[in-house]
Amino acid sequence: MNNFVNIKTNSLSALRAAAADCKACDLWKRATQTVFGAGEKRAALLFVGEQPGNDEDLQGKPFVGPAGQLLDRALIDAGIDRSQAYVTNVVKHFKWEQRGKRRLHKKPNSLEISACLPWLEKEIALVKPDLVIALGATAAQALLGSSVRVLKDRGQVLESKFAHQVLVTVHPSSILRAPDEAARDREYRQFVRDLSKVGNLAAL
Ligand code: SF4
Repeated sequence: MNNFVNIKTNSLSALRAAAADCKACDLWKRATQTVFGAGEKRAALLFVGEQPGNDEDLQGKPFVGPAGQLLDRALIDAGIDRSQAYVTNVVKHFKWEQRGKRRLHKKPNSLEISACLPWLEKEIALVKPDLVIALGATAAQALLGSSVRVLKDRGQVLESKFAHQVLVTVHPSSILRAPDEAARDREYRQFVRDLSKVGNLAAL
């Protein structure tokens, strides 16, 4: 556990305040702010993505950009009340590279993931969700180990040292990156099917 996370608190808001000053890896230097998790402090469902994107970095909230909007739509289509969900990321600062005028997402490396993981560990411990949903490979491997493969394990519920039940599925941004509309539709429907399993796994 890094020094910033090794704080004696049972309060999510105190944890959020501590994370705002985290400098446990270098990602804080080029990001606007820490993007901590958001949602009900005793949510039944805890969704974990990879890291904030450009919109999240600017607004300071997780899943408010295009991928977050797709997640919101999929939750509705899967019959899940968004107020039952807490959303967060493995890595709390936006890692990016400049392409023209745009800041493009850059995958966090293993050192950055390890440095940041204690924040997620503590979030899960405080929220105590019935079910954690790992969105994409970074979240799945951070929670379940490097042998997890999203395409092989999606829709499965696995046990993690962080949570009793972890449901693996894709990250909504991967649906947005699908090569054409037919592929996007197909991927979206499969994503909703994965999320539809949540009702049997959590007390909603
Ligand atoms: S990415 Fe995580 S570990 Fe790195 S500075 Fe930000 S909050 Fe701290």
